[in-house]
Amino acid sequence: MITKFRRSPTAALLARRWWSEPVEYSIQVAYFARRGILGSLQLLVATSTFVLALIPAAIGLSPAGAHDVKTTVVLWAVSVSALVVSSLWWCGRWPSRGWSGAFVVYADAAISTVVLVNPHPLAGLLATNALVLVSVYAIFFEGPRTLVAHTLWALTVSGVLAARMSVSPSADGLFAMTTTVTAFLSLVVVPSVVQFVVWMLRNDANDSLTDQLTGLYNRRGLNLLMDGLLRGLHAERSDSSDAVMVLVIDIDCFKRINDTYGHAEGDAALMRTAQRIREAVRASALVARSGGEEFVVADLTSRDSILTIAERVRCAIAEPGTPADLTASIGVTTMDLDDLADPATDPIAALNRAIDRADHAMFEAKHNGGNAVAFRPMTPHPGYRQSYPPL
Ligand code: GH3
Ligand code: MG
Ligand code: MG
Repeated sequence: MITKFRRSPTAALLARRWWSEPVEYSIQVAYFARRGILGSLQLLVATSTFVLALIPAAIGLSPAGAHDVKTTVVLWAVSVSALVVSSLWWCGRWPSRGWSGAFVVYADAAISTVVLVNPHPLAGLLATNALVLVSVYAIFFEGPRTLVAHTLWALTVSGVLAARMSVSPSADGLFAMTTTVTAFLSLVVVPSVVQFVVWMLRNDANDSLTDQLTGLYNRRGLNLLMDGLLRGLHAERSDSSDAVMVLVIDIDCFKRINDTYGHAEGDAALMRTAQRIREAVRASALVARSGGEEFVVADLTSRDSILTIAERVRCAIAEPGTPADLTASIGVTTMDLDDLADPATDPIAALNRAIDRADHAMFEAKHNGGNAVAFRPMTPHPGYRQSYPPL
């Protein structure tokens, strides 16, 4: 028997996907946070930046280092700025997406300044290896575009240094070439290969966090992202946010769609509903398909607006659709943000309790005829302070 192998995607197709798929920054950060190593990574970046502060200071102080006042001032400026950035990494929280990008730009600028003002081009060329540290950071937390921009920048800096070396009085062609090739390997080849492999592994990991049919998170993805949500990584906490709302949404009489129009139409109706829920809530809300025709939404919000949001979701689902209109029963509960901010609180356990509560509310809505929203406050339980005035 001849076995037919599935055609694998061509390298060009893979490369196109790699280029166009952004890194899900919050998933990446939440992944490290849940494994308890985000603090260690923060410390590592802080220490590396601290070392970056020491190098220009050492060059500035060394008799063989800077020879003029302008260079000395530049070196000390880099040193002081690196100290400030290092202390932010040391004492602050993990940066937001925007600040993370700004850090890459800063690190590139600071390292390049130090290597370019170094009076010894060879020492400068060897020091470009420090840019590999930025590549490693970009591999994990930035997309391929940032990595490519960073790599092009690193190559330009290396090119300038190599050119300087080749015209210096003590130029040694073979030595310059070996050093340049080594810099090329460490700056281009190694980071590119590692980034590509990390991207493939990350894709596989992300697949296990999302629902294939609707593209929403699955329950596992929801659990992972909940931590980030509560720490304000995934959603911006506006001044008015004082609660986490949890909605459990169950489509009414969904079996009838399958029975009447077939499973494929049922799938299409689920995709449509997923899209409508997504559009009815904030972009920062976590939306998951938690089971067959059941969805969960979690978001930071103000208690005053929770019922309005739930109503908006209910109305969006009930909009006319083909082959048939759908309605849903929605259960709502809220968790107090200040209680959840307690470091002793396990976000996933809290989420599970809230989903359980909202599930009860959802059944209440269903028993009242469906196409309705019902609210149930959280009940007190041991070790959990509770302060939920009825809405
Ligand atoms: P209720 O109003 O009590 O919620 O009734 P219901 O019919 O919505 O709920 P029930 O639990 O009786 O049936 C859920 C149906 O959802 C049964 C199952 O075939 C269907 N379902 C679950 N997952 C999928 C899916 O991925 N695709 C399709 N097409 N149907 C699904
Ligand atoms: Mg159900
Ligand atoms: Mg149902």
